[in-house]
Amino acid sequence: MVRSWTSPSLSPLPASGLPLRLHDTRTGRVAPVTPLTPGTARLYVCGITPYDATHLGHANTYHAADLMHRALRDTGLEVEVAQNITDVDDPLFERARRDGIDWEELATSQVELFTEDMAALRIIAPQTYRSVSEAIDSIISVVQKLHQRGRAYPVQAADAAGPDWYLDLGMDGALGDVSGYSEQQMMEVFAERGGDPEREGKRGVFDPLLWSAEREGEPAWDAGALGRGRPGWHVECVCIAGDALGLPFDIQTGGSDLIFPHHDLSAAHAVGLGRGFATVYNHAGMVAHEGEKMSKSLGNLVFVHRLVRDGLDPMIIRLVLMAHHYRADWEWSEAELDRAAERLRAYRSAAARGGHHPATVEALRAALRQDLDTPAALETLDAWASGRGGQDPVRTPDAAAPGDVAAAVDALFGIDLS
Ligand code: ZN
Repeated sequence: MVRSWTSPSLSPLPASGLPLRLHDTRTGRVAPVTPLTPGTARLYVCGITPYDATHLGHANTYHAADLMHRALRDTGLEVEVAQNITDVDDPLFERARRDGIDWEELATSQVELFTEDMAALRIIAPQTYRSVSEAIDSIISVVQKLHQRGRAYPVQAADAAGPDWYLDLGMDGALGDVSGYSEQQMMEVFAERGGDPEREGKRGVFDPLLWSAEREGEPAWDAGALGRGRPGWHVECVCIAGDALGLPFDIQTGGSDLIFPHHDLSAAHAVGLGRGFATVYNHAGMVAHEGEKMSKSLGNLVFVHRLVRDGLDPMIIRLVLMAHHYRADWEWSEAELDRAAERLRAYRSAAARGGHHPATVEALRAALRQDLDTPAALETLDAWASGRGGQDPVRTPDAAAPGDVAAAVDALFGIDLS
């Protein structure tokens, strides 16, 4: 059983009642989020493949999801959050084979690191945190249902006893519904993000693997008429999201490298099941280092646990992330840490002075509601810390109670200023 992490204590503010405005990749617009079920927002966060946890690119994605969670709470909604662990996937098996270790051991150790990092960063834990291997029975029933609905077709595999099964995207015409990408744009990223455009026998170039026949060194489960094997990537999230939140649900979020194929094709699986998927598709930007997007293959990863182990206050990492709009692509550098550390010192001394600053608090909430505009929030906080947020009535500081700005920064941005 996968262990989630312990959420930070949450100090609620009285709900604003104003909606969160959020960017939707599908429409390209920022618009108010209206939950399908009044009063409750349902959020699905695509989780890690546990072989390289947790670099700053991950931190950026899960920080954005956490801000979304906090912003939705601040509007007065209940928030149901589900997150998966892709512990049955090619890159994990490749890594385990390369390093000569058991894939389950690798996954367990990386999930442990990830959950420690999430707790250190004060990310609110999802109510459902589920690995693919835990959800396998349910995933098999979804794969079988797609097969029964005529969406699955076999492709012979030279290195396996039975065929692999693919989803026939041509049946529903849902390809590109989320990304809006042209075929050329799809082709540019499909192969590097787990797709197999060259595979012979596929009906459509972008048809995704639904069920992979059993191969040596990989786990396998019995899926009846589809034979022994394991699920493909996209169907895993469709199933875990559907089980935890129901289909359709409100928001799916993840890094922008998931727009295509993962989120496009997850939605296409749901269409194949005769269901809707997310209402809003939201994506965080990519973090670069040394001129390239952080990635395992390039070896330019900066890990959260290393920074924390070296004594860095995790709140400094949150402030670095806040300095960039979550949808922006940006480059990590050491100088970012210095600026954020300076901010944390200034904010903590201002918080220690206490006081009552309702206009500052309202400005912070308004920034968060406007597509999680953390750079605007930091400007407000900089002004408050330097005493320039002068429009607020100043009351006698009360050393026993935290200033209301500190409480708001905790509730809205997950930053502990005590
Ligand atoms: Zn996913």
